[in-house]
Amino acid sequence: MAVNIRIPSLGNKFQDYRNDIPGDSYNFGPTIIAGKVRYFALHHSVTAQTAKGDGDWKSECNSIARSHIAQGWAGIGYRFVICSDGTVVYVGDLSHGGAAVTGNNDIIFSACLVGDFTKELPTAMQVHSAHVLTDWFINHMPQYPQIDSWNDLIGHKDAAELLRLPGATPTACPGSNWRALGDSLRDRVIADRWQGYPWPEPPSSPSPLPSPPMDCEKQIAGLNARITELTNQLTIATAEVVNHEEQVGRLKAQVTEEVALRESLLEQANEATKKLEETARIYEGSLTTKQKAIDEQGRQLGEKGQEIALLQIENQKLKTGVLSGLSFADLFAALAKKIVNK
Ligand SMILES: [Zn+2]
Repeated sequence: MAVNIRIPSLGNKFQDYRNDIPGDSYNFGPTIIAGKVRYFALHHSVTAQTAKGDGDWKSECNSIARSHIAQGWAGIGYRFVICSDGTVVYVGDLSHGGAAVTGNNDIIFSACLVGDFTKELPTAMQVHSAHVLTDWFINHMPQYPQIDSWNDLIGHKDAAELLRLPGATPTACPGSNWRALGDSLRDRVIADRWQGYPWPEPPSSPSPLPSPPMDCEKQIAGLNARITELTNQLTIATAEVVNHEEQVGRLKAQVTEEVALRESLLEQANEATKKLEETARIYEGSLTTKQKAIDEQGRQLGEKGQEIALLQIENQKLKTGVLSGLSFADLFAALAKKIVNK
């Protein structure tokens, strides 16, 4: 389904050329799903800026379309061409992505500014038109919700260099000034300092590249201030790190000391245990010996007891014998014999 748009803020600088430009303007490239479109990209055509002299914006568009068709494409690769007279030309229907940023034409809408920005600069009218067109997508096209801030304005080269989008290839497009420090082309498009048609040039500056040394100096001064600020923060952070390292060192030393103390105590305890065990062994040995001696004495005592008992018995017998009429001599002989036999 074709997507028709109107951009009133461009006035008669907006032209719908889809039906007349050479090639297929409606079905070339991936089908667009509106919610998935993330970026609005600017390109440069590397073709001559003729319209700024003769006002023939169609011829600038045709020249690009023919070169694309000559390389085998169905039609022009961009969605818009911004001609050197500031005319914004709708050339490729927004239902399809065309061919402009390799591998990413389903998430990027592309507008091409006519000119070779490695050698020349876009006209002030082109810069202003690029601003108004991008602004329209950011602020008046809710059907593309992901294009909602100036961060979504990229240059062709950003796809590979800055965003590293898969499939995107390195390119010089749209020129080395695109994100240059200071007065970059991107900053000019966003700032839109010289508004209005037909010739929104700064009156005081005839050059298309008004060099702004003040801006540069201001920026450098700003950057220097920022560097100083960051250096101070770094110094403070470094001091804190050193402080923490010292604390950690102290704690480590304490832990080491305590561990050493514990080890020493453990060793002492082990030694004491060993000594106790040895003493216990010695005592055990001597106890055994003493027990044996006691046992032996006991045994001897037992034997002596038995002897005494025997003697008592004999004694009794002797007494009984005397009483029963045996001669004292006989008894004595018997007793003597017993002791001799022993
Ligand atoms: Zn490009």
